[in-house]
This record gives sequence, C-alpha cells and structure tokens, in this order.
Amino acid sequence: MCLPAHLCASGKRVVVIGGGDTGSDCVGTANRQGSLSVHQIEIMDKLPEERPLNQSWPEFPRLFKHTSSHEEGVTQDYCVLTKSFQVNADGKLEGLNCAKVQWDFSSGKPVMKEIDNSDFFIQADMVILAMGFTGVEDSKMLKDLGLPLSSRSIVETDTEYKTSIEGVFACGDMRRGQSLIVHALTEGKYTAQAVDHWLMNK
Ligand SMILES: Cc1cc2nc3c(=O)[nH]c(=O)nc-3n(C[C@H](O)[C@H](O)[C@H](O)COP(=O)(O)OP(=O)(O)OC[C@H]3O[C@@H](n4cnc5c(N)ncnc54)[C@H](O)[C@@H]3O)c2cc1C
Repeated sequence: MCLPAHLCASGKRVVVIGGGDTGSDCVGTANRQGSLSVHQIEIMDKLPEERPLNQSWPEFPRLFKHTSSHEEGVTQDYCVLTKSFQVNADGKLEGLNCAKVQWDFSSGKPVMKEIDNSDFFIQADMVILAMGFTGVEDSKMLKDLGLPLSSRSIVETDTEYKTSIEGVFACGDMRRGQSLIVHALTEGKYTAQAVDHWLMNK
C-alpha cells in the first residue's frame, strides 16, 4: 500500500537513525512495505536487559526493549555516529559514512568520544531520521502571539494550563514535551475544564 515511490521502503536498503520508539515504528513499517533490509543505528550504548543497581525501585528502569517490529527483522547497531551521507554523481544516496563512539559518564554528564580508525560505511537507498523530539516548533504562530519557548523548547503554563498570555492555554506535547497519548487525552480534558473556569469567572 505504498504511495509515492520515493517515500516507500519497498525493495530498498533502509537505515533508521535512532533507536527509540519512533525508530522501532519505522523498522516495522519498512519491513511491512517490503524493504530489502533494515539497519537501525543508535548513537548511545545498548541499554541493559535487567534493572541495573543504580536504578532501584520505584524508579522506572531504562531497559533494552526488543519490540514486535524488531522481531520482524532488523540489524541493530549501537554507539554509531553518522558522519556524512554519501551520494553519487547524480545526487542519489549510496549510504552513510559512520564511526563508532564511546561514552564517558564519569563526570556525571555523558561525554562522547569517537573511536580512532573505527570508520565504516553502511549502504542505503533510504534513510529515516528518528532521532527524537527536540521540542516544539518555534512557529510563526507562537512568534505572533509573543509566546516564548522555555529552555526545554516547550510552552510553559501554570497548573491551570494558562500560558503567560491572557486567554491562551497549552496542553499535550506542546506543554509537556515528548510524551504519551494518555497524557495528551487527560490534559485535553483538564484544559477544557480550565478554560471553562476562566470563561465563567470573567
Ligand atoms: C512516531 C511516533 C510514535 C508514537 N507512538 C506512541 C505510542 O505508541 N503510544 C503513545 O502513547 N504515544 C506515542 N507517541 C506520542 C504521541 O503521539 C503524542 O504524545 C501525542 O500525539 C501528543 O498529542 P498532542 O495532541 O499534544 O499533539 P499532536 O498529536 O502532535 O497533535 C498536534 C496537532 O496540532 C496540529 N497543528 C500544529 N500546528 C497547528 C496550527 N498552527 N494550527 C492548527 N493545528 C496545528 C498538528 O497538525 C497536529 O495534528 C508517538 C509519537 C510519535 C511521533
């Protein structure tokens, strides 16, 4: 059920950059569209399969997830930095120039170091960027409203979902950052209630 050929993974060697949930959705979709191969690369190290000692209960553990999409077929690689895209003389993608990296957490802040002479090439006809939600788009609408984005690139509100501008409310990913549908649904309902209170008090 592919639409434009350039957006369809059918018959292509696909590389997904990003090892999170979105990357996993991309792996599944590429497989179901009949890709030749799917390679998923992640810049961070592979997460542990069991709860590590430094993530004690009730903290939610950050563990390696093997989803049903992965079971359909994928090569997964970790600690991989994409250095450049390689294209032929016609501008057609040939693949990715990559290198392996290592992480140092000793300072409390992750520091990435490229490993010398670790460069390698991955052939690709299609690359899907699934590198994460980096924040709300700083759109014309927000600029026109004069609504600033916080340091986390989200729109801040008070507990009543009110932004810094009278009569403008925010909820969902716009307010929380990357999140889940259950949160968006709940915040939608609470925001409707908050707008109702605000209107009734006016
Ligand atoms: C690939 C992917 C997979 C995900 N998988 C899951 C999952 O399995 N489970 C889960 O719980 N969550 C998942 N999420 C997260 C979930 O989709 C979001 O948390 C949720 O959709 C946020 O809802 P929202 O209403 O805040 O924003 P959105 O769903 O992003 O809705 C915002 C809407 O506003 C519209 N819009 C933007 N600008 C304007 C404008 N100027 N005027 C009018 N409309 C505008 C957009 O077109 C969009 O329709 C996933 C997210 C992604 C990207």
